Amino acid sequence: MLCDETVMAVQTPSFDAITSLVEDAQTIAVCAHTSPDGDALGSELALVEMIERRWPKKDVVALLADDDEVPRIYQFLPGADRLVRAVDYHGTPDLFFCVDLSQPGRLSDAQAVLERSAHVAVLDHHPATERCWDAGVVRPDAAAAGVLVAEYALYVLGELTPTMAQNLLCALVTDTGRFQYQNANGEAFRVASALVDAGASPSDVALHVYQSDRLSYLHLSATVMGRITTFEQGRIAYSYATTADLESNAVPVAECDGLVDIVRRVDGCEIALFLKEVPGGKVRGNLRAKSARDISVVAREMGGGGHPAAAGFTVEGDIDQALAVVLPKLRALYAGDEAGS
Ligand code: 5GP
Ligand code: MN
Repeated sequence: MLCDETVMAVQTPSFDAITSLVEDAQTIAVCAHTSPDGDALGSELALVEMIERRWPKKDVVALLADDDEVPRIYQFLPGADRLVRAVDYHGTPDLFFCVDLSQPGRLSDAQAVLERSAHVAVLDHHPATERCWDAGVVRPDAAAAGVLVAEYALYVLGELTPTMAQNLLCALVTDTGRFQYQNANGEAFRVASALVDAGASPSDVALHVYQSDRLSYLHLSATVMGRITTFEQGRIAYSYATTADLESNAVPVAECDGLVDIVRRVDGCEIALFLKEVPGGKVRGNLRAKSARDISVVAREMGGGGHPAAAGFTVEGDIDQALAVVLPKLRALYAGDEAGS
């Protein structure tokens, strides 16, 4: 068993309820969140393969929430070429299966597909506010949605294929920041071990995700690194990239996911913020916490969400306008500390 017994006891009836929904459905659409990361894509592709293996007669489609290409670094994932953009899918599924998300608002174009589906199932690890599903497991202490997909696959299929394992290892490696974030718990390592035993290759995941940066991206990283600013006695660090930076380095917005990790490297910084301008006159923010401080509170105040140590948001405006709103909120996390320290 990869999770502990008490977790399994709670999870099993929900897995059974998901299975009933799958068995009653003929057409199934699986989808992960907008701006998909390694966990979203890896978990979705593994889940699709698992459903098709266990129920070969079902008609399963793997959807992309946005009208964009699969990010370059994730195109190596087995099955990535079968992902269909939600705008190009016109079916009315019996079951809509959300993976790595449980908030319809994060489905982008796929929200319309969910709305015309008969039932909804969920496997997710984001803290959920409102239940929008008929059956599901939402467990925020799971390091990645891939952990839940692995446990569900072992429960219903009894095995993991090498391609499922590769997708799920990518999910786990990316959502734990290569097993370096606070969410990298014993369960994450047990699942990773099972995935490698089933044929996943850590070096292959690392090669594609962490050792295939385009030179132009590295040059953009240098700009971002050069701009890192700290305040609150070095406890908060931020940097940013404007549309002009992205254009002059020819780096697509979707390839900037790793830049917040550069900001978090600063010694002594407890909160890292990275902002980038995205199309439509908006700014996307990535927040990370290196201490126990919960930055998802700030992400929610900014209209986004996420986990206590990794969260994000999107706001209207440019970098200066976004900074003017978010920096005071980050500072406010430290208000009251001075008196006590
Ligand atoms: P990232 O900064 O890598 O985009 O996201 C960090 C975490 O926060 C991920 O788990 C992601 O799914 C979640 N997250 C990012 N942006 C949003 C948002 O706008 N709304 C919600 N609910 N979650 C978000
Ligand atoms: Mn995830």
